[in-house]
Amino acid sequence: MKTFRPIKLTNTTTGKKELFEPRTPGKVGFYSCGPTVYNFIHIGNLRGGLVADMVFKYFKRVGYDVNFVRNYTDVDDKIINRGKEEKIPAEEVAKKYTLEVEKDFAVAGMEEPTHKTTVTTHIPDIITLIQKIIANGQGYVVDGEVFFSIEKFPTYGKLSRKPIEDLIAGIRVEVRDKKKSPLDFSLWKPAKEGEPFWESPWGKGRPGWHIECSAMASRWLGDQIDLHHGGEDLIFPHHENEIAQSEAASKKAPFVKYWLHHAFLTVSKEKMSKSIGNVFLAREFLTKYGGEIARYILLGVHYRSIIDFDEGTIDQALTSLHRIYEAKAKARELAAKKAAVPDLRAESAWGSFVADAEQIKTKIDDHYANDFNTPGVLGELFSLIREFNKTLATPLAESTPSAVLGAQALLQVMEQDVGGVLGVGRADPKKMLGDIATLRSEGKDTSGRPSAEEIESLIQARLEARKAKNFAESDRIRDELLAKGVAIKDGPKGTTWEYK
Ligand SMILES: [Zn+2]
Repeated sequence: MKTFRPIKLTNTTTGKKELFEPRTPGKVGFYSCGPTVYNFIHIGNLRGGLVADMVFKYFKRVGYDVNFVRNYTDVDDKIINRGKEEKIPAEEVAKKYTLEVEKDFAVAGMEEPTHKTTVTTHIPDIITLIQKIIANGQGYVVDGEVFFSIEKFPTYGKLSRKPIEDLIAGIRVEVRDKKKSPLDFSLWKPAKEGEPFWESPWGKGRPGWHIECSAMASRWLGDQIDLHHGGEDLIFPHHENEIAQSEAASKKAPFVKYWLHHAFLTVSKEKMSKSIGNVFLAREFLTKYGGEIARYILLGVHYRSIIDFDEGTIDQALTSLHRIYEAKAKARELAAKKAAVPDLRAESAWGSFVADAEQIKTKIDDHYANDFNTPGVLGELFSLIREFNKTLATPLAESTPSAVLGAQALLQVMEQDVGGVLGVGRADPKKMLGDIATLRSEGKDTSGRPSAEEIESLIQARLEARKAKNFAESDRIRDELLAKGVAIKDGPKGTTWEYK
């Protein structure tokens, strides 16, 4: 039997890193909660999409057969309100923004899931699921509204790992005498005047929010699934309620074997909110910077850590991508070279570089398999680039025949091991370097540029660092200069520089 690479991930249910063992060897049933399509998505939503995409791509890369379902919530209060604002039917709002979200996802380089699902195409599944819950004694009907009864589900709260009293204390208790307990939630809501509705055994109405994910997950993945992902803000009540509904309907537990949650994205340490006016739309970001920078920023931080977006975030990403693509441009140039006369010292330098690249491939795979440690993956890529630049500094390195093998080894790590999962490093270097240069020069105030004297003294310091084989320091100085808008180039006549 085929053996699979062991993968560890942090399961929210236990709060611990666990070895991933799917219910059926070699197969992964994976569900990710997608956006509510009432507006353009913001970069926090894009992070969610990209995290799911990264997980999907990695499992496939290591040979799993992945059935990946991502939904669009296409009927909801926000959509209905938006329709009223725009004076168009709610249905059209949902259609319009589904298309817009899909454009963003495509520009961000996301792969299509196995199934993309919507609430409105799963109404019969939803009704059947609610009927099962009622038949099992865990749902009740009051005036055309169906509620889930928390009292009848003793393990409620197991994902949040909090007692019921704490969960009640954490919610805004509405004065609604219809519900038996404040934590009970709607499975089916009666239709209000002018709102979209469907016929049901309880009258005209529409599904509550949580039931859609339970219904779509069981329809496409079965009653019990391996992996379920979403933002950490969905743990309670959304995912807690999904568990209650699915386990009540199927009488099988657990509904989900591993729960994966990604952290928030903040802007200058504040939560994005319309009232503060700090909401970054994915569309604005992608239009200005493109998909690769978005992926670099949103996947370059571990999925369980908060990403704080501030003025420096983009500059840092541009500097890092510049280093990647500069190395890629050089590697492409070398890979296309005709073999010349071998030089022993240079051959041996490339030999050890190729061996390093092999080791780094293994390390990269280890990082992915260790709870999707994406910053670790990028760290390995940068250390390989550093080795590559060091090898290039060996006399005759560029003209010896093994240079081609070295260049190919770097390109492979960049495009496949890193690019195949993170989508970083796969673009054409000439185009990327051009785009980066344009972004850096846009709106740049040249009065703050360092003087020629300052630049020369930094170049001198870098030269000394290189002589002392302190490559980390020499790289740092080069990056400092780049950040100040100065590009330097090492050539046979020493180091030259120019303002970008
Ligand atoms: Zn969901």
